[in-house]
Amino acid sequence: MASRVPLAVPNIGESEAKMVTDAVESGFVSSVGRYVAEFERQFADYVGAKYAVACSSGTAALHLAMRLADVQPGDLVAVSDFTFMASANAASYQFADLLLVDSSPDSWGMDLDLLEEELRRRRTAGEVLPKAVELVHILGQPADAHRARLLADEFGFLLVEDAAEALGATWSDGPLKGRHVGTVGHMGAFSFNGNKIMTTGGGGMFTTDDEDMARRAKHLSTQARLPDRGYLHDEIGFNYRLTNIAAALGVAQLERLDGFVEHKRAIAQRYNDAFAGTSIGLPPNLPNEESTYWLYSVLVPGGEGTESRDALQDFLAEADIESRSLWRPLHMQPPLAHAPVLGGEVGAELFSRGLSLPCSTDLTESDQQRVIDRVLAWHALNIE
Ligand SMILES: *Cc1c(COP(=O)(O)O)cnc(C)c1O
Repeated sequence: MASRVPLAVPNIGESEAKMVTDAVESGFVSSVGRYVAEFERQFADYVGAKYAVACSSGTAALHLAMRLADVQPGDLVAVSDFTFMASANAASYQFADLLLVDSSPDSWGMDLDLLEEELRRRRTAGEVLPKAVELVHILGQPADAHRARLLADEFGFLLVEDAAEALGATWSDGPLKGRHVGTVGHMGAFSFNGNKIMTTGGGGMFTTDDEDMARRAKHLSTQARLPDRGYLHDEIGFNYRLTNIAAALGVAQLERLDGFVEHKRAIAQRYNDAFAGTSIGLPPNLPNEESTYWLYSVLVPGGEGTESRDALQDFLAEADIESRSLWRPLHMQPPLAHAPVLGGEVGAELFSRGLSLPCSTDLTESDQQRVIDRVLAWHALNIE
């Protein structure tokens, strides 16, 4: 009997166990201890940000960014429409009005033509402009952060990069050559949830080059407590700290991150080669952008709506292969039904056709071949 092939599972090894044990034995299991500061420093070095502040989740890091952008009830925040709900929740916690922006079919990231057109229209009409724009690097694929930053400079909003899914993704040429996602905007947010490319069990990171923002992010994440003999708090803060145990796991995972990224890219290459020449839609692969292919995802051809995607998913499940549909875009989420949306068709299409295939960093070539054979068998039976 062949074993089950999971979608994407954490890759935890001996160095992780060693460092977590060390953190436990040090007695500093909670928010004090050497690993938090070490993780922050090493993470900042890795992505090339000046400052990194460890958080209890990626959502918490995004929420801090919204607070630091001074997003107040009724302020406008533009968010990529095709993303995981957490991207929007961070802005909703501040009672922002959301403006949802569809994806470009090339990158699956925010369509900046749509955003720019709307910014110009609003400025000409004297309408309110966004206070912040949240650009999501979806599935490990860099969005056009350079152009978004130019728009930020022109229209005066703060650019927040939601890099939760894209740790390790870079630009290999052009104006951002050598840069990591999450370091181009005013602030960036990363996630170390269990399904992300590296994990701390649960956790996140806030990044910025602005010393004042970094200091405030840390302050807000620790209940806005001032160093004082008594308990003195100068504003309403949060308990968004990462524990020392989680940070120890993070330090160990970060050491292995380059290997994870390399493995994800090799998996993507094998899938791409296998599906080339079929009508299966491949994930974005843009020149000058080095995606990590965090969750390798294809667009399933044939049928109407979600019919083909569901059929392929069921066909894979019968062979004990796990797959998962891409996200329902934000404009189709009940709590956001009232939010204005620019476009929406691209995200809706990615949702109805998109299917993520197994791509754990320890996926064996023979297990991947099983997935490939099964996908191609389905394609031969149903599409050709
Ligand atoms: C996972 C994810 C988040 C949230 O991260 P958590 O650590 O789970 O809170 C935010 N945005 C996107 C795009 C994500 O995929």
